[in-house]
Amino acid sequence: IELTQESYVDSIIERVIVKNPGEAEFHQAVREVLESIKPVVELYPEFEENGILERLTEPERQIIFRVPWVDDQGSVHVNRGYRIEFNSALGPYKGGLRFHPTVYPGIMKFLAFEQTFKNALTGRPIGGAKGGSDFDPKGKSDSEVMRFCQSFMTELYRHIGAQTDIPAGDIGVGKREIGYLFGQYKRITNRFEAGTLTGKGIDWGGSLVRIEATGYGLVYFVEEMLKDVGETFEGKKVIISGSGNVAIYTAQKVIELGGKVIAISDSDGVVYDPEGIDLNSVIEIKEKRRGRIVEYLKAYPSAEYNDNSKDIWKIECDIAFPCATQNEIDTEEAKALVNNGVVVVAEGANMPCTPEAIECFQKNNVMFAPAKAANAGGVATSALEMTQNSMWESWSFEDVDKKLRDIMKDIYSSIKTTAEEYKKDGDLVFGANVTAFLKVARAMMDQGV
Ligand code: GLU
Repeated sequence: IELTQESYVDSIIERVIVKNPGEAEFHQAVREVLESIKPVVELYPEFEENGILERLTEPERQIIFRVPWVDDQGSVHVNRGYRIEFNSALGPYKGGLRFHPTVYPGIMKFLAFEQTFKNALTGRPIGGAKGGSDFDPKGKSDSEVMRFCQSFMTELYRHIGAQTDIPAGDIGVGKREIGYLFGQYKRITNRFEAGTLTGKGIDWGGSLVRIEATGYGLVYFVEEMLKDVGETFEGKKVIISGSGNVAIYTAQKVIELGGKVIAISDSDGVVYDPEGIDLNSVIEIKEKRRGRIVEYLKAYPSAEYNDNSKDIWKIECDIAFPCATQNEIDTEEAKALVNNGVVVVAEGANMPCTPEAIECFQKNNVMFAPAKAANAGGVATSALEMTQNSMWESWSFEDVDKKLRDIMKDIYSSIKTTAEEYKKDGDLVFGANVTAFLKVARAMMDQGV
Protein backbone atom coordinates (compact mmCIF):
# COMPACT_ATOMS: atom_id res chain seq x y z
CA ILE A 1 0.00 0.00 0.00
CA GLU A 2 1.36 3.35 -0.98
CA LEU A 3 0.51 6.22 1.27
CA THR A 4 0.74 9.50 -0.57
CA GLN A 5 1.11 12.39 1.75
CA GLU A 6 -0.42 15.50 0.31
CA SER A 7 1.62 18.59 0.96
CA TYR A 8 0.17 21.58 2.81
CA VAL A 9 0.21 23.68 -0.35
CA ASP A 10 -1.54 21.02 -2.46
CA SER A 11 -4.21 20.52 0.17
CA ILE A 12 -4.96 24.25 0.17
CA ILE A 13 -5.26 24.38 -3.62
CA GLU A 14 -7.67 21.45 -3.41
CA ARG A 15 -9.62 23.20 -0.65
CA VAL A 16 -9.99 26.39 -2.72
CA ILE A 17 -11.34 24.37 -5.66
CA VAL A 18 -13.87 22.56 -3.46
CA LYS A 19 -14.98 25.67 -1.59
CA ASN A 20 -15.31 27.88 -4.68
CA PRO A 21 -16.92 25.64 -7.29
CA GLY A 22 -16.90 26.81 -10.89
CA GLU A 23 -14.62 29.78 -10.25
CA ALA A 24 -11.88 28.90 -12.74
CA GLU A 25 -10.03 32.25 -12.71
CA PHE A 26 -9.82 32.23 -8.92
CA HIS A 27 -8.51 28.65 -8.90
CA GLN A 28 -5.96 29.64 -11.54
CA ALA A 29 -4.69 32.67 -9.62
CA VAL A 30 -4.42 30.76 -6.33
CA ARG A 31 -2.64 27.83 -7.97
CA GLU A 32 -0.19 30.16 -9.71
CA VAL A 33 0.79 31.90 -6.48
CA LEU A 34 0.78 28.85 -4.20
CA GLU A 35 2.80 26.65 -6.52
CA SER A 36 5.45 29.27 -6.89
CA ILE A 37 5.79 30.02 -3.15
CA LYS A 38 5.69 26.31 -2.25
CA PRO A 39 9.44 25.89 -1.55
CA VAL A 40 9.37 28.89 0.79
CA VAL A 41 6.22 27.73 2.61
CA GLU A 42 7.83 24.34 3.14
CA LEU A 43 10.99 25.92 4.50
CA TYR A 44 9.22 27.68 7.40
CA PRO A 45 6.75 25.53 9.39
CA GLU A 46 5.20 28.59 11.08
CA PHE A 47 3.13 29.33 7.99
CA GLU A 48 1.33 26.01 8.27
CA GLU A 49 1.15 26.24 12.07
CA ASN A 50 -0.58 29.60 11.74
CA GLY A 51 -2.97 28.45 9.03
CA ILE A 52 -1.64 31.22 6.81
CA LEU A 53 -2.63 29.70 3.47
CA GLU A 54 -6.17 28.83 4.61
CA ARG A 55 -6.61 32.43 5.72
CA LEU A 56 -4.84 33.96 2.74
CA THR A 57 -7.13 32.18 0.25
CA GLU A 58 -10.39 33.01 2.03
CA PRO A 59 -11.64 36.61 1.53
CA GLU A 60 -12.16 38.46 4.80
CA ARG A 61 -15.53 39.69 3.59
CA GLN A 62 -17.64 39.29 0.43
CA ILE A 63 -20.41 41.72 -0.33
CA ILE A 64 -22.96 40.95 -3.06
CA PHE A 65 -25.83 43.31 -3.75
CA ARG A 66 -28.66 44.19 -6.11
CA VAL A 67 -28.18 47.19 -8.38
CA PRO A 68 -31.51 48.31 -9.87
CA TRP A 69 -31.52 51.16 -12.40
CA VAL A 70 -33.79 52.74 -15.00
CA ASP A 71 -32.73 53.12 -18.65
CA ASP A 72 -33.53 56.10 -20.90
CA GLN A 73 -36.75 54.45 -22.09
CA GLY A 74 -38.00 54.02 -18.54
CA SER A 75 -37.41 50.25 -18.29
CA VAL A 76 -36.06 48.82 -15.07
CA HIS A 77 -32.92 46.67 -15.07
CA VAL A 78 -31.21 44.76 -12.30
CA ASN A 79 -27.50 44.01 -12.18
CA ARG A 80 -25.41 42.38 -9.51
CA GLY A 81 -22.82 44.37 -7.57
CA TYR A 82 -19.78 42.98 -5.75
CA ARG A 83 -17.07 44.06 -3.36
CA ILE A 84 -14.61 41.41 -2.26
CA GLU A 85 -12.55 42.65 0.70
CA PHE A 86 -9.82 40.08 0.53
CA ASN A 87 -7.08 41.00 2.94
CA SER A 88 -6.40 43.91 5.29
CA ALA A 89 -3.13 42.78 6.87
CA LEU A 90 -1.13 45.66 5.40
CA GLY A 91 -3.74 48.42 5.37
CA PRO A 92 -7.31 49.29 4.41
CA TYR A 93 -8.74 47.31 1.50
CA LYS A 94 -7.75 48.85 -1.83
CA GLY A 95 -8.55 47.91 -5.40
CA GLY A 96 -10.56 48.83 -8.46
CA LEU A 97 -14.12 48.32 -9.66
CA ARG A 98 -14.76 46.50 -12.92
CA PHE A 99 -17.97 46.97 -14.91
CA HIS A 100 -18.09 44.24 -17.54
CA PRO A 101 -20.65 41.58 -18.52
CA THR A 102 -18.16 38.77 -17.69
CA VAL A 103 -18.01 39.81 -14.01
CA TYR A 104 -18.94 36.98 -11.59
CA PRO A 105 -17.49 35.85 -8.24
CA GLY A 106 -14.62 33.89 -9.86
CA ILE A 107 -13.32 37.02 -11.59
CA MET A 108 -13.87 39.26 -8.57
CA LYS A 109 -12.02 36.86 -6.27
CA PHE A 110 -9.08 36.33 -8.60
CA LEU A 111 -8.67 40.07 -8.99
CA ALA A 112 -8.97 40.76 -5.24
CA PHE A 113 -6.52 37.94 -4.45
CA GLU A 114 -3.99 39.26 -6.97
CA GLN A 115 -4.53 42.80 -5.70
CA THR A 116 -3.49 41.75 -2.19
CA PHE A 117 -0.06 40.68 -3.46
CA LYS A 118 0.33 43.54 -5.91
CA ASN A 119 -0.47 46.11 -3.24
CA ALA A 120 2.08 44.52 -0.93
CA LEU A 121 4.76 45.00 -3.59
CA THR A 122 4.07 48.74 -3.85
CA GLY A 123 5.45 49.20 -0.35
CA ARG A 124 2.42 51.36 0.57
CA PRO A 125 0.16 50.38 3.49
CA ILE A 126 -2.78 49.02 1.50
CA GLY A 127 -4.69 45.75 1.71
CA GLY A 128 -6.37 44.02 -1.23
CA ALA A 129 -9.92 44.21 -2.63
CA LYS A 130 -11.85 44.30 -5.88
CA GLY A 131 -15.40 44.98 -6.86
CA GLY A 132 -17.66 45.72 -9.74
CA SER A 133 -20.71 44.56 -11.59
CA ASP A 134 -21.87 42.55 -14.59
CA PHE A 135 -23.27 45.84 -15.95
CA ASP A 136 -22.10 46.53 -19.52
CA PRO A 137 -21.34 50.24 -20.06
CA LYS A 138 -20.89 49.64 -23.81
CA GLY A 139 -23.62 51.43 -25.74
CA LYS A 140 -25.16 53.04 -22.65
CA SER A 141 -25.82 56.77 -22.54
CA ASP A 142 -24.10 59.05 -20.03
CA SER A 143 -27.30 59.34 -18.01
CA GLU A 144 -27.76 55.58 -17.91
CA VAL A 145 -24.19 55.17 -16.66
CA MET A 146 -24.84 57.92 -14.10
CA ARG A 147 -28.00 56.27 -12.77
CA PHE A 148 -26.25 52.92 -12.62
CA CYS A 149 -23.30 54.38 -10.69
CA GLN A 150 -25.65 56.16 -8.29
CA SER A 151 -27.55 52.96 -7.58
CA PHE A 152 -24.30 51.02 -7.17
CA MET A 153 -23.01 53.55 -4.63
CA THR A 154 -26.34 53.62 -2.77
CA GLU A 155 -25.36 50.21 -1.43
CA LEU A 156 -21.56 50.41 -1.60
CA TYR A 157 -21.20 53.61 0.45
CA ARG A 158 -21.82 51.82 3.77
CA HIS A 159 -18.87 49.49 3.18
CA ILE A 160 -16.15 51.95 2.13
CA GLY A 161 -14.12 54.83 3.57
CA ALA A 162 -10.57 56.16 3.72
CA GLN A 163 -9.70 53.91 6.68
CA THR A 164 -11.81 50.95 5.55
CA ASP A 165 -11.89 50.31 1.82
CA ILE A 166 -10.91 52.60 -1.07
CA PRO A 167 -12.23 51.64 -4.52
CA ALA A 168 -10.88 52.97 -7.83
CA GLY A 169 -11.28 52.15 -11.53
CA ASP A 170 -10.62 49.04 -13.60
CA ILE A 171 -12.12 47.84 -16.90
CA GLY A 172 -15.27 49.90 -17.64
CA VAL A 173 -14.68 52.30 -14.76
CA GLY A 174 -12.78 55.50 -15.51
CA LYS A 175 -12.91 59.15 -14.52
CA ARG A 176 -16.55 59.52 -15.58
CA GLU A 177 -17.76 56.62 -13.43
CA ILE A 178 -15.57 57.62 -10.44
CA GLY A 179 -17.16 61.09 -10.70
CA TYR A 180 -20.71 59.74 -10.55
CA LEU A 181 -19.78 57.35 -7.75
CA PHE A 182 -18.08 60.08 -5.73
CA GLY A 183 -21.00 62.48 -6.23
CA GLN A 184 -23.42 59.92 -4.87
CA TYR A 185 -21.16 59.05 -1.91
CA LYS A 186 -21.02 62.75 -1.02
CA ARG A 187 -24.79 63.20 -1.39
CA ILE A 188 -25.58 60.26 0.86
CA THR A 189 -23.01 60.91 3.57
CA ASN A 190 -22.85 64.72 3.41
CA ARG A 191 -19.07 64.44 3.64
CA PHE A 192 -16.41 65.39 1.08
CA GLU A 193 -14.13 62.48 1.88
CA ALA A 194 -11.65 62.64 -0.96
CA GLY A 195 -9.72 59.65 0.37
CA THR A 196 -12.65 57.27 -0.12
CA LEU A 197 -12.13 56.80 -3.86
CA THR A 198 -9.10 57.20 -6.13
CA GLY A 199 -8.89 58.11 -9.79
CA LYS A 200 -10.82 61.32 -9.12
CA GLY A 201 -10.81 64.39 -11.38
CA ILE A 202 -7.79 66.65 -10.96
CA ASP A 203 -9.84 69.60 -9.64
CA TRP A 204 -11.64 67.62 -6.97
CA GLY A 205 -8.96 65.63 -5.19
CA GLY A 206 -7.50 63.54 -7.99
CA SER A 207 -3.78 63.14 -8.58
CA LEU A 208 -1.80 64.09 -11.63
CA VAL A 209 -0.28 61.03 -13.35
CA ARG A 210 -2.99 58.68 -11.96
CA ILE A 211 -4.53 58.18 -15.40
CA GLU A 212 -1.15 57.51 -16.98
CA ALA A 213 0.27 55.59 -14.01
CA THR A 214 -0.38 51.93 -14.88
CA GLY A 215 1.02 52.33 -18.40
CA TYR A 216 3.93 54.56 -17.42
CA GLY A 217 4.79 52.29 -14.49
CA LEU A 218 4.73 49.25 -16.74
CA VAL A 219 7.21 50.86 -19.11
CA TYR A 220 9.44 52.08 -16.24
CA PHE A 221 9.50 48.51 -14.97
CA VAL A 222 10.53 47.09 -18.34
CA GLU A 223 13.11 49.86 -18.70
CA GLU A 224 14.79 48.41 -15.58
CA MET A 225 14.68 44.89 -17.02
CA LEU A 226 16.23 46.10 -20.26
CA LYS A 227 18.89 48.09 -18.40
CA ASP A 228 20.05 44.84 -16.79
CA VAL A 229 20.89 43.41 -20.19
CA GLY A 230 22.36 46.65 -21.51
CA GLU A 231 19.31 47.54 -23.61
CA THR A 232 16.79 50.38 -23.98
CA PHE A 233 13.47 50.97 -25.75
CA GLU A 234 15.24 52.80 -28.57
CA GLY A 235 14.19 51.31 -31.93
CA LYS A 236 12.28 48.38 -30.37
CA LYS A 237 9.18 47.06 -32.13
CA VAL A 238 6.35 46.93 -29.63
CA ILE A 239 2.84 45.46 -29.74
CA ILE A 240 0.20 46.36 -27.18
CA SER A 241 -3.15 44.60 -26.86
CA GLY A 242 -6.12 46.62 -25.66
CA SER A 243 -6.78 50.32 -26.14
CA GLY A 244 -8.00 51.37 -22.72
CA ASN A 245 -6.19 53.51 -20.26
CA VAL A 246 -3.37 50.99 -19.61
CA ALA A 247 -2.65 50.35 -23.31
CA ILE A 248 -2.79 54.02 -24.33
CA TYR A 249 -0.35 55.30 -21.73
CA THR A 250 1.95 52.31 -22.19
CA ALA A 251 2.12 53.29 -25.85
CA GLN A 252 2.71 56.95 -25.03
CA LYS A 253 5.69 56.18 -22.78
CA VAL A 254 7.15 53.62 -25.18
CA ILE A 255 7.07 56.20 -27.98
CA GLU A 256 8.60 58.85 -25.70
CA LEU A 257 11.48 56.46 -24.97
CA GLY A 258 12.14 55.84 -28.67
CA GLY A 259 10.26 52.58 -29.18
CA LYS A 260 7.89 51.97 -32.08
CA VAL A 261 4.32 50.82 -31.33
CA ILE A 262 3.27 48.85 -34.41
CA ALA A 263 -0.03 47.32 -33.24
CA ILE A 264 -2.85 48.00 -30.82
CA SER A 265 -6.26 46.31 -30.47
CA ASP A 266 -9.70 46.19 -28.90
CA SER A 267 -12.13 43.29 -28.43
CA ASP A 268 -13.25 43.66 -32.09
CA GLY A 269 -9.88 43.58 -33.83
CA VAL A 270 -6.28 44.69 -34.36
CA VAL A 271 -4.75 47.71 -36.07
CA TYR A 272 -1.27 47.12 -37.49
CA ASP A 273 1.03 49.71 -38.99
CA PRO A 274 4.73 48.91 -39.42
CA GLU A 275 5.42 52.66 -39.63
CA GLY A 276 4.09 53.13 -36.11
CA ILE A 277 0.62 53.82 -34.71
CA ASP A 278 -0.48 57.46 -34.33
CA LEU A 279 -1.46 57.58 -30.70
CA ASN A 280 -3.40 60.84 -30.92
CA SER A 281 -5.86 59.18 -33.28
CA VAL A 282 -6.29 56.27 -30.89
CA ILE A 283 -6.90 58.66 -27.99
CA GLU A 284 -9.41 60.60 -30.10
CA ILE A 285 -11.31 57.39 -30.98
CA LYS A 286 -11.18 55.55 -27.68
CA GLU A 287 -11.10 58.28 -25.02
CA LYS A 288 -13.01 61.12 -26.63
CA ARG A 289 -15.54 59.31 -28.82
CA ARG A 290 -15.73 55.96 -26.99
CA GLY A 291 -15.52 54.40 -30.45
CA ARG A 292 -14.01 51.21 -31.87
CA ILE A 293 -10.40 50.80 -33.00
CA VAL A 294 -11.50 49.96 -36.58
CA GLU A 295 -12.25 53.69 -36.96
CA TYR A 296 -8.47 54.23 -37.05
CA LEU A 297 -8.61 53.27 -40.72
CA LYS A 298 -10.61 56.41 -41.50
CA ALA A 299 -7.60 58.53 -40.55
CA TYR A 300 -4.98 56.03 -41.73
CA PRO A 301 -6.34 54.00 -44.65
CA SER A 302 -2.88 52.48 -45.21
CA ALA A 303 -2.94 50.71 -41.83
CA GLU A 304 -4.00 47.06 -41.76
CA TYR A 305 -7.02 45.85 -39.81
CA ASN A 306 -7.73 42.28 -38.74
CA ASP A 307 -11.03 41.45 -37.06
CA ASN A 308 -9.55 38.73 -34.86
CA SER A 309 -8.07 40.37 -31.74
CA LYS A 310 -5.95 37.32 -30.90
CA ASP A 311 -4.03 37.69 -34.15
CA ILE A 312 -2.09 40.56 -32.62
CA TRP A 313 0.23 37.94 -31.08
CA LYS A 314 1.23 36.70 -34.55
CA ILE A 315 2.91 40.01 -35.33
CA GLU A 316 6.70 40.01 -35.15
CA CYS A 317 7.96 42.22 -32.33
CA ASP A 318 10.68 42.69 -29.69
CA ILE A 319 8.41 43.55 -26.77
CA ALA A 320 4.80 42.50 -26.16
CA PHE A 321 2.51 44.17 -23.64
CA PRO A 322 -0.77 42.33 -23.06
CA CYS A 323 -2.95 45.15 -21.70
CA ALA A 324 -6.47 43.94 -22.49
CA THR A 325 -7.78 41.31 -20.08
CA GLN A 326 -7.23 37.95 -18.32
CA ASN A 327 -6.08 34.88 -20.23
CA GLU A 328 -5.60 36.66 -23.56
CA ILE A 329 -2.31 34.80 -24.16
CA ASP A 330 -2.46 31.00 -24.03
CA THR A 331 0.01 28.41 -25.34
CA GLU A 332 -0.75 29.06 -29.00
CA GLU A 333 -0.25 32.81 -28.74
CA ALA A 334 2.86 32.36 -26.56
CA LYS A 335 4.38 29.99 -29.12
CA ALA A 336 3.72 32.45 -31.93
CA LEU A 337 5.47 35.21 -29.97
CA VAL A 338 8.45 32.97 -29.16
CA ASN A 339 8.76 31.81 -32.78
CA ASN A 340 8.81 35.43 -33.89
CA GLY A 341 11.68 36.19 -31.52
CA VAL A 342 9.99 38.21 -28.77
CA VAL A 343 12.51 39.33 -26.12
CA VAL A 344 10.27 40.72 -23.35
CA VAL A 345 6.65 40.06 -22.37
CA ALA A 346 5.27 42.32 -19.65
CA GLU A 347 1.74 42.06 -18.28
CA GLY A 348 -0.24 45.31 -18.21
CA ALA A 349 -3.60 43.61 -17.68
CA ASN A 350 -4.24 41.37 -14.67
CA MET A 351 -3.34 37.71 -15.40
CA PRO A 352 -3.34 38.11 -19.22
CA CYS A 353 -1.06 35.06 -19.63
CA THR A 354 -2.14 31.54 -18.71
CA PRO A 355 0.28 29.45 -16.60
CA GLU A 356 1.09 27.41 -19.73
CA ALA A 357 1.96 30.59 -21.65
CA ILE A 358 4.26 31.76 -18.84
CA GLU A 359 5.97 28.38 -18.81
CA CYS A 360 6.52 28.65 -22.56
CA PHE A 361 8.15 32.10 -22.15
CA GLN A 362 10.36 30.97 -19.31
CA LYS A 363 11.50 27.81 -21.11
CA ASN A 364 12.46 29.88 -24.12
CA ASN A 365 14.38 32.50 -22.12
CA VAL A 366 11.90 35.29 -22.84
CA MET A 367 12.17 37.92 -20.09
CA PHE A 368 8.77 37.86 -18.40
CA ALA A 369 7.26 40.50 -16.08
CA PRO A 370 4.23 39.36 -14.05
CA ALA A 371 1.29 41.72 -13.63
CA LYS A 372 1.36 41.98 -9.88
CA ALA A 373 4.76 43.67 -10.15
CA ALA A 374 4.71 45.25 -13.60
CA ASN A 375 1.26 46.87 -13.47
CA ALA A 376 1.43 47.95 -9.82
CA GLY A 377 2.09 51.56 -10.83
CA GLY A 378 -1.64 52.27 -11.07
CA VAL A 379 -2.53 51.30 -7.55
CA ALA A 380 0.76 52.74 -6.25
CA THR A 381 -0.26 56.11 -7.67
CA SER A 382 -3.70 55.65 -6.12
CA ALA A 383 -1.84 55.40 -2.82
CA LEU A 384 -0.02 58.63 -3.69
CA GLU A 385 -3.43 60.20 -4.38
CA MET A 386 -4.57 59.08 -0.91
CA THR A 387 -1.46 60.61 0.64
CA GLN A 388 -2.16 63.95 -1.06
CA ASN A 389 -5.81 63.80 0.04
CA SER A 390 -4.88 63.23 3.66
CA MET A 391 -2.41 66.14 3.55
CA TRP A 392 -4.85 68.47 1.69
CA GLU A 393 -2.19 68.92 -0.94
CA SER A 394 -1.71 68.33 -4.64
CA TRP A 395 1.67 67.55 -6.03
CA SER A 396 3.07 68.51 -9.44
CA PHE A 397 3.15 66.10 -12.39
CA GLU A 398 6.94 65.86 -12.10
CA ASP A 399 6.78 65.03 -8.39
CA VAL A 400 4.25 62.24 -8.78
CA ASP A 401 5.95 60.87 -11.89
CA LYS A 402 9.29 60.74 -10.09
CA LYS A 403 7.74 58.94 -7.12
CA LEU A 404 6.06 56.45 -9.47
CA ARG A 405 9.34 55.78 -11.24
CA ASP A 406 11.12 55.22 -7.92
CA ILE A 407 8.39 52.84 -6.76
CA MET A 408 8.69 50.77 -9.97
CA LYS A 409 12.48 50.66 -9.58
CA ASP A 410 12.09 49.52 -5.98
CA ILE A 411 9.61 46.80 -6.94
CA TYR A 412 11.95 45.54 -9.63
CA SER A 413 15.01 45.47 -7.41
CA SER A 414 13.22 43.88 -4.46
CA ILE A 415 11.71 41.03 -6.46
CA LYS A 416 14.94 40.46 -8.35
CA THR A 417 16.84 40.27 -5.06
CA THR A 418 14.34 37.80 -3.59
CA ALA A 419 14.68 35.58 -6.64
CA GLU A 420 18.47 35.64 -6.25
CA GLU A 421 18.27 34.88 -2.51
CA TYR A 422 16.49 31.63 -3.30
CA LYS A 423 18.77 30.83 -6.25
CA LYS A 424 16.07 31.56 -8.81
CA ASP A 425 17.97 34.31 -10.63
CA GLY A 426 15.87 36.20 -13.15
CA ASP A 427 12.60 34.48 -12.20
CA LEU A 428 10.46 37.54 -11.58
CA VAL A 429 7.32 35.43 -11.12
CA PHE A 430 8.89 33.66 -8.17
CA GLY A 431 10.42 36.90 -6.89
CA ALA A 432 7.11 38.78 -6.97
CA ASN A 433 5.04 36.02 -5.40
CA VAL A 434 7.52 35.30 -2.61
CA THR A 435 8.26 38.95 -1.77
CA ALA A 436 4.55 39.77 -1.55
CA PHE A 437 3.66 36.58 0.30
CA LEU A 438 6.29 37.06 3.00
CA LYS A 439 5.15 40.62 3.62
CA VAL A 440 1.46 39.76 3.91
CA ALA A 441 1.99 36.49 5.80
CA ARG A 442 4.27 38.08 8.40
CA ALA A 443 1.80 40.92 8.98
CA MET A 444 -0.97 38.37 9.45
CA MET A 445 1.12 36.48 11.99
CA ASP A 446 1.96 39.69 13.84
CA GLN A 447 -1.73 40.48 14.12
CA GLY A 448 -2.85 37.06 15.38
CA VAL A 449 -5.61 34.76 14.23
N1 GLU B 1 -7.57 48.42 -11.10
C1 GLU B 1 -6.20 48.76 -10.90
C2 GLU B 1 -5.40 47.50 -10.61
O1 GLU B 1 -5.70 46.46 -11.12
C3 GLU B 1 -6.00 49.91 -9.92
C4 GLU B 1 -6.61 49.72 -8.57
C5 GLU B 1 -6.51 50.97 -7.68
O2 GLU B 1 -5.98 51.99 -8.08
O3 GLU B 1 -7.00 50.84 -6.55
O4 GLU B 1 -4.43 47.50 -9.90
